[in-house]
Amino acid sequence: MTAVSMAQVVAAAQDAGAGLGAFNVIGIEHAEAIVAGAEQARLPVVLQISENCVKYHGALEPIGLASLAIARAAAVPVAVHLDHAASLSLVEAAAGFGFGSVMFDASALDYAGNVAATAALTAWCHERGIWVEAELGEIGGKDGVHAPGVRTSPEDAAAYADATGVDALAVAVGSSHAMLTRDALLDFDLIGQIRARVQAAVPLVLHGSSGVSDAALGKAVLAGMAKINIATQLNKVFTAAVRERLAADERMVDPRRYGAAGRNAVAAEVARLLTVLQP
Ligand SMILES: [Zn+2]
Repeated sequence: MTAVSMAQVVAAAQDAGAGLGAFNVIGIEHAEAIVAGAEQARLPVVLQISENCVKYHGALEPIGLASLAIARAAAVPVAVHLDHAASLSLVEAAAGFGFGSVMFDASALDYAGNVAATAALTAWCHERGIWVEAELGEIGGKDGVHAPGVRTSPEDAAAYADATGVDALAVAVGSSHAMLTRDALLDFDLIGQIRARVQAAVPLVLHGSSGVSDAALGKAVLAGMAKINIATQLNKVFTAAVRERLAADERMVDPRRYGAAGRNAVAAEVARLLTVLQP
């Protein structure tokens, strides 16, 4: 297979009545593990790189090109996506490197500013065949913002999607970024109401899905969520495996030894989570 467009992987998941797993890359081991897990499950997947990940590496190019290369070599369809980009120059860089999909996060602006900036960015991306995801109703837990009570109204979601022309919409329905426990209470009725109001061609995206239980992830897909973003859960699994490996051998110094333990654990968790998203 090759790296494919976001439209292709979203359509494949929707045709199967399933959710599409979108997992955040931190280092190259994450990208390798996410693709290995998708290959084990024989399901499409999204590799996503956030602006925070780019800041960690100092630039998009090294981790972005590595992720694209890993996607191209995969045995299943893999889309590569820029996640939570607030910077226009980063979106332009991603477009230049061949990313087919971006999330533009204008949630720091007021509503009118958000709509204007997102509509302009979307038009620019569509001229280049790039899929655009945006967010309405700030999803808590990122950059010090804690707003687990925030909810997206169905009317606002429909109006925002129409006004901006985005391809996918992230909505606030009870999840919150960076949760270490999986006990977020999703509002399934609200998901259904938003799904009924937003035009059908615009898939809904669940952010902060690491804080959602397996059972609730399946219910969220059935209620209408299409793309399921998971980051923290993989970091928990990676770090636990590395910690266990290092504790078992205090003389271990080769990063390939404990890195492989983390990578194997993440691959197994990705395969498991992708199966959870096939309710
Ligand atoms: Zn997010």
